[in-house]
Amino acid sequence: MIDEVTASPATLQGFRLACPKDRGPLEAEGAALRCCRCGTLYPVIDGVPVLIDDERSVFAIADYGGGAGYEGPSYGRDADRSGGLRRLYHRAARRLGDAETSIRHPDAAEAIAYVAALRPRPRVLVVGSGGLRLGAPEDRVLSTDVAFGPAVDAVADAHHLPFPDGSFDLVIAVAVLEHVADPWLCAREFGRVLDSGGHVYAVTPFLQPVHMGAYDFTRFTPIGHRRLFRHFDEVAAGVAMGVGSVAAWTIGAALQSASGRRGWRMAARMMGLLLTPLLRRLDRPLRHGADAAGGCWFFGRLREGAPVSDRDLVRDYRDRFGLGPERLPPP
Ligand SMILES: [Zn+2]
Repeated sequence: MIDEVTASPATLQGFRLACPKDRGPLEAEGAALRCCRCGTLYPVIDGVPVLIDDERSVFAIADYGGGAGYEGPSYGRDADRSGGLRRLYHRAARRLGDAETSIRHPDAAEAIAYVAALRPRPRVLVVGSGGLRLGAPEDRVLSTDVAFGPAVDAVADAHHLPFPDGSFDLVIAVAVLEHVADPWLCAREFGRVLDSGGHVYAVTPFLQPVHMGAYDFTRFTPIGHRRLFRHFDEVAAGVAMGVGSVAAWTIGAALQSASGRRGWRMAARMMGLLLTPLLRRLDRPLRHGADAAGGCWFFGRLREGAPVSDRDLVRDYRDRFGLGPERLPPP
């Protein structure tokens, strides 16, 4: 919700907001927010500001319509609208797919704890939070996404974040950067909104079938993922999804291509899902196969000065991209 006192400049849960076009301060105008610099008006729908640069984003402010009968992008509504088979799939996916993976890696909660040990009550920005609320209630976590959802505080596009420079101590982006048109621009934007010495935690796919259709642009090899964060020093990094888990997913996706029929496609996904617990057992014995991993995770600290050079990245490659640690090192 927009804070009760929204005198200029507008804040959201104590965080200053900025125009995604020119980073000018915003001020409340009726039920909306207006940029003091360029005059753009941003709607606030059910307490959630829609801070999208209408000219540069793949999303248009009109997509978020609002008001009665609103049918715009949202998490948590699909489940109500879709058929029984889909509901069954999602229930099974939660049971089988979300079980403890056989490769453990540091998660977003550990990244928050790491930064909290350096700076009490760190300011955390979650980009692409979806329906997931990260952090404890007492943590200062602001969640953004391109769709409305129970955990989304503001609608924002990662290419042009609606916050002034240096607003956060940690940016979290889990399974997000494959879904943006220009992940390199987004990674720079993460650096911009981080305070000096701020941290980034990201998990991004390497070998994974297309998901979310048109909104699935890019994959990263381990060194490609490291290079994405070349404006950061690496604290720790590793493999996020094991070879076996991704094999099960890939088999399901391959079976889907046998027919375009909706029922078959859902059944094929289900078959892949049923293979997951079995094939996941291969994750650990095949754990040195970063070259066939489902994803990469990276935790790093914003660098002062020049980015890591490509020559240095290549030189450091040999030792760097194994499984990675199960826990973050002490800060
Ligand atoms: Zn503006």
